[in-house]
Amino acid sequence: MAINLELPEKLNSTVERARLAAEHIFRPVSRKYDKAEHEYPTELDELGKIAKEARGGDKTADSDGADHGTVNGANLRSVLNARELSWGDVGLMLSIPYQGLGNAAIAAVANDEQLERFADVWAAMAITEPAFGSDSAAVATTAVLDGDDYVINGEKIFVTAGSRADHVVVWATLDKSVGRAAIKSFVVPMATDGVTVARLEHKLGIKSSDTAVVRFENARVRADNLLGSPEINVKKGFGGVMQTFDNTRPVVAAMAVGLGRAALEEVRRILEEAGHEIDYDRPAAAQHAAVADFIRLESDWEASWMLTLRAAWMADNKQPNSTEASMSKAKAGRTVTDVTNKAVEIGATAGFSETQLLEKWARDSKILDIFEGTQQIQQLIIARRVLGKSSADLR
Ligand SMILES: Cc1cc2nc3c(=O)[nH]c(=O)nc-3n(C[C@H](O)[C@H](O)[C@H](O)COP(=O)(O)OP(=O)(O)OC[C@H]3O[C@@H](n4cnc5c(N)ncnc54)[C@H](O)[C@@H]3O)c2cc1C
Repeated sequence: MAINLELPEKLNSTVERARLAAEHIFRPVSRKYDKAEHEYPTELDELGKIAKEARGGDKTADSDGADHGTVNGANLRSVLNARELSWGDVGLMLSIPYQGLGNAAIAAVANDEQLERFADVWAAMAITEPAFGSDSAAVATTAVLDGDDYVINGEKIFVTAGSRADHVVVWATLDKSVGRAAIKSFVVPMATDGVTVARLEHKLGIKSSDTAVVRFENARVRADNLLGSPEINVKKGFGGVMQTFDNTRPVVAAMAVGLGRAALEEVRRILEEAGHEIDYDRPAAAQHAAVADFIRLESDWEASWMLTLRAAWMADNKQPNSTEASMSKAKAGRTVTDVTNKAVEIGATAGFSETQLLEKWARDSKILDIFEGTQQIQQLIIARRVLGKSSADLR
């Protein structure tokens, strides 16, 4: 069967709109907010409104109940949007109101009533704690049912958009003694009593994105703000909350593809200006060494995009995609750091200078291989799936 890689026409406007925003809104202020760490980019307010409206559109995308064979919906739209915007600036992309990582979590696991109720929120995602990052089964933040509310206590670190979003999706345990099956996610309004932003982090890259420490001290949320089922099903483990990653990892992969394309375009320009032709009809090894590097990196980049499309398409079509989501994230995260660092190398003085964006892109790229699961964690997940091993067998 032939594979049709043409994108559905209904998504053309998403791509076009994001491309224009990346070029005309993000790029002109990219360096400004790299320097002005923690300052809110007001240029994004308008994009926030558009993101909200687009979410309304997603609800109707191929959801009329008819059998269309294949579905191209919210996940494909998200990866295209992320790819285009990240070509402009990854930190600014992460700062757009109303499309936080918590929004993706809500989209992945909320029931219909919650989807409706949280349709207009801007939600950050809080999993990581001072005592763990990769080992998300080690959640120590607690949620205790008290009447009609859960009472949440704990500290979350490195929360992207944690000081700007109006809500946060928090992972907390209902009962630490039960292990991972008791870990649930809760939508918590930031305005809740007992929720405080303790500090903001200073970082290597994506400086325009705020990264916060958020504390929960007897913070009360409605019991029906728990996403998914409150039941502790030891057999199921914490599949419910982990499902979030099936949607968010392809989006991070798409961000890497977008940034990678920006760097590849710049490398191509530098090579051509230096008189080095990129000839796809000749073996790479028979060409200038920098051209050979470019061809290799471009093919890695293409593979990253193919894996990302596949993972998003599977999510839209309700196919289990954990392996593919990790594959896309692992490949794209690794590739974007390779591409941006090679761009600095080939750009030499232009690569190292702040007069251009190459050095910034090299700094920004690294996070895409860290958050939503590091390179090593993605490889571990893929290995478990491919070898049929459990998380206890292979750690
Ligand atoms: C800018 C930024 C934004 C972030 N945003 C968010 C956010 O919005 N929400 C949120 O919850 N978190 C966020 N994080 C946290 C991020 O998800 C974690 O940093 C990441 O999961 C890694 O955790 P860690 O830093 O504790 O590293 P660790 O888990 O301590 O890992 C350290 C090293 O050991 C490796 N390693 C760990 N376990 C294994 C293993 N079993 N096998 C092989 N290697 C292993 C890791 O790959 C890594 O190289 C953010 C982090 C940063 C830097």
